[in-house]
Amino acid sequence: MPTFQTVRGMRDLLGEEAQIFAYIFGKARNNAQVYGFKEVMTPLVEPLELLSAKSGEEIRQRMFIFKDLGDRQVALRPEFTASIARLATTQLKTEPKPLRLFSVGSVYRYDEPQKGRYREFYQGNFELMGSSKPEADAEIILLTNNLIRTLGLKDYAFKIGQVGVIRGILSQNGVDEKVQNAVLQRMDKKEYDAAFQLLNDEKSRIMLEGLLKIKCRNWQETIDQIKAHVVGYEKAEAAAKNLFEILELVSKSANLTINVEPAFARGLEYYTGLIFEVYIPELEIAIGGGGRYDRLIEAFGGDPTPAVGCAVGIDRIAIAMQTQNTILQAGEGKKVVVIPISEAIRVEALKIAQNLRVEGVTAEFEVMGRKMSKALEDADKRKFDYAVIVGEREFNEGNVVIKELAKREQTVIPIGKLIEKIKS
Ligand code: AMP
Repeated sequence: MPTFQTVRGMRDLLGEEAQIFAYIFGKARNNAQVYGFKEVMTPLVEPLELLSAKSGEEIRQRMFIFKDLGDRQVALRPEFTASIARLATTQLKTEPKPLRLFSVGSVYRYDEPQKGRYREFYQGNFELMGSSKPEADAEIILLTNNLIRTLGLKDYAFKIGQVGVIRGILSQNGVDEKVQNAVLQRMDKKEYDAAFQLLNDEKSRIMLEGLLKIKCRNWQETIDQIKAHVVGYEKAEAAAKNLFEILELVSKSANLTINVEPAFARGLEYYTGLIFEVYIPELEIAIGGGGRYDRLIEAFGGDPTPAVGCAVGIDRIAIAMQTQNTILQAGEGKKVVVIPISEAIRVEALKIAQNLRVEGVTAEFEVMGRKMSKALEDADKRKFDYAVIVGEREFNEGNVVIKELAKREQTVIPIGKLIEKIKS
């Protein structure tokens, strides 16, 4: 028989790794809660049309696409935003704005597998819909910052841009939107020569090269330089002003490292304003990113609804936490194994295990029928805190034996005192 492997680029998550992922999911949920974001769960499979409409060539070419048995063209979601935008145009259309929506789960992209790049990966996704104000952009940056901070990551920085600067320049110079998209995609990959070759006019090229050359000590100076560089390009000027407002709000309400990069672009086509990514110094790949997309919901047939959102890459956060040796804050209580000494007492022992669980104690019941010494050896190896040994003689006297595995100490205690002892 051949042994089966996972599909290329997809992984099984086990043991400590699964634990870290669950920990990050938990922190992401908690973050959603404290920022007032409600969780929604959308299908993994969506109509191809929805997913390919506005995500951009880059993502379109990397989707898992197939026909279902009803001959429908469908795809595995490569991100959450399209699904959430669909919700905003249908079931949530008449909900009062703003909508604050959170999702967590797997997404699929046919990327070339390598460290931190998989074909199945997990994202925590936050979307704030209904506001065009810089306050909304600020909230998205702040909640991303809060999540990464509460996960215990250090020295991370926000790389920030505003696509309205580049688009403002290009559209005023008559470059059509398709070419703009292609230029931005090349710039996202830092293929600047290829990007500039797509432009026929010298003016646009000089303007973009100028943006690339801006290097300043801090974000305030960088934005001043951008403003000076784009004088006369009204939309680009407005975009730079908007970025300043957002960052002023953010920097006055939290402590975070902001690097504004004037020529920063992101692959997704639907961005219209702020864009950002988060990095830790030890890794070259982003652990999260997001931006403003004011026209997507309208493009999906909804009312004009400005929106801003972000997604953190859970797989990459897990790598970042391992790289920085981040300690998981203990969330787990004590772990107990319950072992009946003989078959005659197993019902009573199982009842004791059940009672422990009802009280919220993690309790494994010995189901292998092993001798006590073997079962204890196993519990020791798997770092259990206590073994509760149920013997007929002690049980008839209302007692059990509790063994503290690390200390190798054992005592006889009344069954009624068990929970108190374990939780102490
Ligand atoms: P995006 O949806 O492209 O804005 O990506 C958001 C985040 O998802 C990125 O910052 C990464 O952390 C993560 N991410 C994107 N592509 C992959 C991938 N192929 N494997 C693992 N994580 C990814």
